[in-house]
Amino acid sequence: MAAFDVVVLGGGTAGVHVATEVAGGGKTVALVEAGLIGGESAYLACLPSNSLLLSASRGEPWEDAVARRAEVTGGLDDSAAAQRLNRAGVQVIRGTGRITAPDTIEVTRAQGAPAAAGGTGSRAAGGTGSGTTTLTYSDLVIATGSRPAVPAIAGLADVDYWTSRDAIWASAIPTSLVVLGGGAVGAHGRGRARSRALRNPAVRSAEIHIQ
Ligand SMILES: Cc1cc2nc3c(=O)[nH]c(=O)nc-3n(C[C@H](O)[C@H](O)[C@H](O)COP(=O)(O)OP(=O)(O)OC[C@H]3O[C@@H](n4cnc5c(N)ncnc54)[C@H](O)[C@@H]3O)c2cc1C
Repeated sequence: MAAFDVVVLGGGTAGVHVATEVAGGGKTVALVEAGLIGGESAYLACLPSNSLLLSASRGEPWEDAVARRAEVTGGLDDSAAAQRLNRAGVQVIRGTGRITAPDTIEVTRAQGAPAAAGGTGSRAAGGTGSGTTTLTYSDLVIATGSRPAVPAIAGLADVDYWTSRDAIWASAIPTSLVVLGGGAVGAHGRGRARSRALRNPAVRSAEIHIQ
């Protein structure tokens, strides 16, 4: 069982920032991340979305926009981000965390993810393989973010739909689109749709209807 002053659960923008600052203050810190270090912003939201908007504002063809999207998201490779955390003194533990006691987290490691000290997986601590790692902490930071919610709308389950994440990683331009939700994320989606529509000869109307 490995003991830390602080465990940060979730390695998105918030978790990475907190973990780096706390480690800089001299505390022992572990950051637990189930997916990619950097979280939504780097791979599923701000960077790819703003990249598509920029491409559209420059009038770039869809193929170039897709290439830029892949470039800004680093080919979904978060190893540099993990190394930055390590250099800052943060121990990165890949897996899904579950609080099992007021001062304890059990991390179920993803297949192939390195084990931390205290691991009970199929390989020795420091090796790789699936299994669990138990961490104790003095303080816990929960930075697990959010994910798109699918509202309970009659009929929605019977049709194909995208969440905002699907829209950002779309492989083709839709010929028509309805955006449900007019907040900041919906506005990003409308902006991308309008820009794409204007450059897509298959689209008959580039009007955006707000109801
Ligand atoms: C389309 C779109 C565009 C946006 N554009 C902007 C913008 O231009 N500017 C801006 O400031 N913001 C923007 N945002 C908002 C921004 O992306 C979020 O506010 C930010 O990413 C939230 O960061 P976070 O660290 O709180 O959460 P996340 O980035 O979601 O990180 C949480 C992490 O926790 C991990 N996790 C969850 N549960 C567990 C668990 N049990 N164990 C281990 N790990 C776990 C997840 O895998 C995830 O990586 C945009 C959002 C969207 C959807």
